[in-house]
Amino acid sequence: MNSWLNYAVDMQTILLLSLFLSFSSWGQEFNYRNYTDQLCSPGFQGRGYVNAGDSIAGEFIAQNFKAIGLLPITENYFQPFEFSVNTFPGDMLVYTDQDTLRPGIDFLVAPTSSGVHGKFLLIQFSCSKLLSIKQQDIRLTENEALLIDLSGLSSDTLSLVKKKLNELALFFPILELSDKKLTWSVSQDVNKYPYLIISKEAFKKLPTEIHLDIDQKHLESHVAKNVIGFCPAKRKAKKTLLISAHYDHLGRMGRDTYFPGANDNASGTAMLLYLAEQLLAKPLKYNVLFVAFAGEEIGLLGSKYMSLHPPLPLEDLRFMLNLDIMGSGEDGITVVNSTLFPKEFDLLKSINAKKKLLKEIKPRGPAANSDHWYFTQAGVPAFFIYTMGPNKHYHDIDDRYEALSFAAFDELNNLLFRFLKSIK
Ligand SMILES: [Zn+2]
Repeated sequence: MNSWLNYAVDMQTILLLSLFLSFSSWGQEFNYRNYTDQLCSPGFQGRGYVNAGDSIAGEFIAQNFKAIGLLPITENYFQPFEFSVNTFPGDMLVYTDQDTLRPGIDFLVAPTSSGVHGKFLLIQFSCSKLLSIKQQDIRLTENEALLIDLSGLSSDTLSLVKKKLNELALFFPILELSDKKLTWSVSQDVNKYPYLIISKEAFKKLPTEIHLDIDQKHLESHVAKNVIGFCPAKRKAKKTLLISAHYDHLGRMGRDTYFPGANDNASGTAMLLYLAEQLLAKPLKYNVLFVAFAGEEIGLLGSKYMSLHPPLPLEDLRFMLNLDIMGSGEDGITVVNSTLFPKEFDLLKSINAKKKLLKEIKPRGPAANSDHWYFTQAGVPAFFIYTMGPNKHYHDIDDRYEALSFAAFDELNNLLFRFLKSIK
């Protein structure tokens, strides 16, 4: 059997097994913990673009939509769209004569980095030299890379240096030493040169040379899929509520390291499924459209696409609830766009006060920080809700299922269910 066939069989086994695990307790309440855990497991590859992680997750969600009884209004629940994406599917080796750096712990590869295989002499520039020198005046040979220590900078200087480094990244290999938390991301674009962000603590002693073995692949047109399911109203209705959560995450950074994306946003996907099951059992006066968006982390691309190609007319959408980061809640929730929709915000707060559910409901103005954004721009009334709490793992390898408290998940579920039911 060739390796591709092996892979296909494995995927089928995983999907069947997952389905079994999700709904073996059919008739009981949706097991959101188990569901979140599954989405974070290695077989889902961090729900990114290496080893088809995002399509495995999309298939899994569509099968779950079907199993709980949501109706398809697009082909097989999917809405496909395309974009380019830079990926790191293979080698991810960074070492000196003294240290071997651990991916995701000691270093990150910048999302726009090229791949690279070779040994580099490190040419260290101070930040003041970096800010004063012109790009034309920097001369490096083929096996030299810039090393810049960003530790201890004020936030103003840091942003100036970062800006300059982003310009220089088009011309030179760069290694950045950082004393900040390592937070990864994903990019559509790729530069000509490698770029690494290395934790200052990674080196016992600052090296003069470094070995880099990094495989990189730019996918010119990757097909991702929004997953869309429909729950009809109790009686025939024209207006529809939209509930969304993105299911994609950052995927793999090299063969051995993946980003599980538990809080962001396996937890929100689980809340979406949970609400779907509840609303199918007790339909509302409005239809409800459930959307698990793809391509969020790369720039809200799934929700942008759907706002431009809506499966239902946008003017028929009464309200949108976008759910992202649902795994905490010790300190309550924040509601983005609350200032734009004071009536709905008052409704949410009054239910919470009456039922004594969450510790705090914090208002926040509009922000382009999740999938509600393009719908808000298109005139659809929307809230984006995220939980607050002590779990600060975000876009790192420790955003794992085990780190989730689900401290207020049931209370929040209760609040959202009542809010959806009461919305005028
Ligand atoms: Zn997110």
